[in-house]
Amino acid sequence: MLVLSGGTGTPKLLQGLKEVADFWVVVNTAEDVWVSGNKICPDIDSVIYAIAEVIDDEKWWGIKGDTFYTHERLKELGFDEGMRIGDLDRATHILRSEMLRAGKSLCEATKAVAEAYGVRQEIFPMCEEEVSTTVVTDEGEMHFQEFWVLRRGEPEVKDVYFRGIEKARIPDEVKERLRKEKEVLIGPSNPITSIMPILSVEDFRERLRDKRVIAISPIVGEKAVSGPAGKLMRAKGYEVSARGVADVYSDFLDLLVVDEADKGVMERSVATNTIMKTKEDAVRLAEFVVKLFDGL
Ligand code: GDP
Repeated sequence: MLVLSGGTGTPKLLQGLKEVADFWVVVNTAEDVWVSGNKICPDIDSVIYAIAEVIDDEKWWGIKGDTFYTHERLKELGFDEGMRIGDLDRATHILRSEMLRAGKSLCEATKAVAEAYGVRQEIFPMCEEEVSTTVVTDEGEMHFQEFWVLRRGEPEVKDVYFRGIEKARIPDEVKERLRKEKEVLIGPSNPITSIMPILSVEDFRERLRDKRVIAISPIVGEKAVSGPAGKLMRAKGYEVSARGVADVYSDFLDLLVVDEADKGVMERSVATNTIMKTKEDAVRLAEFVVKLFDGL
């Protein structure tokens, strides 16, 4: 099974899925940024940390129990790097960036980080090229990280686009695996900022049409479980609802898993409790989805 992932909802699910099925993951890299000389891939790191069970499961980014000595010391020395990067987390960024500086690919660097964390599933970036989610707001254009982390998602959003996406290529290894894959799961990730970039790399979207595709809605009722998905879906002209999520994936989706609260809201959907507060919740939801694939 191939899983498409962002950095919060789907990584939560992967903690359960790893107990019940084999899978590989293609991860959004359109939120990547260079900070203090190192490349941060927030979604790749969250996927790896979640599977390795070291993720800070209160914030859903960074490493549980991490310290912030370097970040704080930099501030004392007069440099605020903006993002609050933990010391252990920074080691991941240094390992990745040193490999990139030595001429290795992001696919190779991702494999190295995953292996170092004992993750046996294959994790791939959606592409090697740099793509950045750009939010067009009433205060001008800004990188998604600036909009979400520095400005706390407050500016009014007019549009979202992925700078550099025309030059992005699906990594060869991903193409090869995708050709043989029959089942694709889109976790409960932000459809606009996490999944749309992956679908927009070359003809990735078209490549899903002959597969069995199930998605889990990150929207319950008229609200995202967390984060700015609602605001961004609205800006892109989609309804903020499970139906709106299905619309984003309409050309290849077979079945949408919606929350009990949205039971019967649309055809080709099944309802269950999709809120994951504990690992047990994630295992239960993962088992539910695996059974759905068996019945498709
Ligand atoms: P990001 O890269 O940090 O934005 O992470 P994702 O795109 O992977 O995940 C963000 C989305 O996950 C948000 O739209 C949330 O609504 C959704 N989400 C977070 N936790 C849960 C959960 O427990 N259940 C469901 N159904 N969605 C969730």
